Amino acid sequence: MTELPSPNLRPGEPPARAARRLLLVHAHPDDESINNGATMARYTAEGARVTLVTCTLGELGEVIPPELRHLTGAALGEHRRRELAAAMAELGVDDFRLLGGAGRYGDSGMMGLPDNDDPACFWRADVDEAAASLVEVILEVRPQVLVTYDDDGGYGHPDHIQAHRVAMRAAELAEDAGWRIPKVYWNRVPRSVAEAAFARLREELPGLPFAKSAVVPDVPGVVDDDRVTAEIDGGPAYTAAKAAAMRAHATQVEVAPGERYFALSNELAQPLFPTEYYELVRGEPAGKRETDLFAGTGDAAEVA
Ligand SMILES: [Zn+2]
Repeated sequence: MTELPSPNLRPGEPPARAARRLLLVHAHPDDESINNGATMARYTAEGARVTLVTCTLGELGEVIPPELRHLTGAALGEHRRRELAAAMAELGVDDFRLLGGAGRYGDSGMMGLPDNDDPACFWRADVDEAAASLVEVILEVRPQVLVTYDDDGGYGHPDHIQAHRVAMRAAELAEDAGWRIPKVYWNRVPRSVAEAAFARLREELPGLPFAKSAVVPDVPGVVDDDRVTAEIDGGPAYTAAKAAAMRAHATQVEVAPGERYFALSNELAQPLFPTEYYELVRGEPAGKRETDLFAGTGDAAEVA
């Protein structure tokens, strides 16, 4: 395999390419840690190159700590950028980027709000143009695995839907430009796992710092179990790293002591999943329930 020039190498970064390369595309800072924190921690620990592309700075997010609620707009975006850096330090990820550069795309806010109409918001972005920025990253990193959301963005948030569209379009365009990503996964949670976790949560709720529980439909990406094709078990170490990364997003996430539950700004308790689940939507599954997202990608190659 011939090497493309890598103009974006950071000082001190060795030019040698890690054998296994994972690209994740997310909407806002915090989504990566909540959805994929254990997976990212595992693969960085194993020497894979993990690249995160975040599409917006989430500057319309509601802030949890009262002492930080004065942060809004660009100031909140800048703060969340620092939270993201702290989270990535917890996961050992040193390659994290903002799509098109910091501030290129604004947070679109929840579906149906007037913020969705702001021409600078990600929801209003031209998909091909945004995808072109991501293609540059794909051609540089040449990942064997891409992880993003399903076509509903997991739960219908405009920025998550748009992140899905941009990621899937970029995978197509990258193939035309010379790199076919062998495996593409969507974030999932098996319904039986979600239901069991919420049953436990309801029993343990009196001991948690949250008054109420969320419900299964609040969890992004829940599907019938048979659609789930891969699972990454964080074990104690990577689950702890995931919880620490989630804590780093303090404006958005509150993790309960014991690290088994957390809440967003709605203060509804939900499970912190130590195992992360995926549905393979491009590529050949290596077995019925894969335990390695890279399984079978040893012969990944450039498109002639
Ligand atoms: Zn989000």
